[in-house]
Amino acid sequence: MSFLKDKDSNHQIITCYFCFETFEIDLGIDETFSGKNTEIFDCEICCNPNKVDADIYDGEVSSLIVSDGNE
Ligand SMILES: [Zn+2]
Repeated sequence: MSFLKDKDSNHQIITCYFCFETFEIDLGIDETFSGKNTEIFDCEICCNPNKVDADIYDGEVSSLIVSDGNE
């Protein structure tokens, strides 16, 4: 049994915590991963560090929270 996915869930568009511009990130999660993933992504526009907390269920991102990565 297989499910066709029209979009790679690793690629997400986030809004920068600092400058409010949007940019794309690659979470690099396994397609069968379930759990939480926390990673720092530097903004492509202002280069500030955005901390991205992702809740993942079976490789699908169910929520993304962007916060200050300087903490
Ligand atoms: Zn920014």
